[in-house]
Amino acid sequence: MNRVGIGYDVHQLVEGRKLFLGGIEIAHAKGLDGHSDADVLIHAIADAILGALGSGDIGHHFPNTDERWRGVSSLVFLKEIRRMLEKRGATLENIDASLVAEAPKIGPHIARMKAVLGEALGLAPECVGLKATTNETMGFLGRGEGIAAMAVACVSLPK
Ligand SMILES: [Zn+2]
Repeated sequence: MNRVGIGYDVHQLVEGRKLFLGGIEIAHAKGLDGHSDADVLIHAIADAILGALGSGDIGHHFPNTDERWRGVSSLVFLKEIRRMLEKRGATLENIDASLVAEAPKIGPHIARMKAVLGEALGLAPECVGLKATTNETMGFLGRGEGIAAMAVACVSLPK
């Protein structure tokens, strides 16, 4: 039985933070604000997988009131979610995600993000879809005030 899930996340870009996207650090004047490393792409992917499992969201499983998750790499969340998949006897089939960022340029980093995400989720590179676009200078994303990400995930579960 196949299940799909959707995830969306957005974080503010602020000074004095490192920028983490898709599990890698990217050189940029600003970083995303949040309790963990604020990796908006991983958070959207995590919510998509949790959605496919019908199992709450990232805020439920990894609350920002929990000191355990302060400053932690969001790759840790994927590791935990992989454990949840295993527990349910579920297989993650593929993920597909889009980043919306005015800056920095995401294109040059996509191959590395795909490799890191694939490794973290046990997916072959061709099962990790990843695209990036700008918001055409419109709105808060277009002004570079933050970065948004959306993702879908397909999970197969035993009958
Ligand atoms: Zn988030």
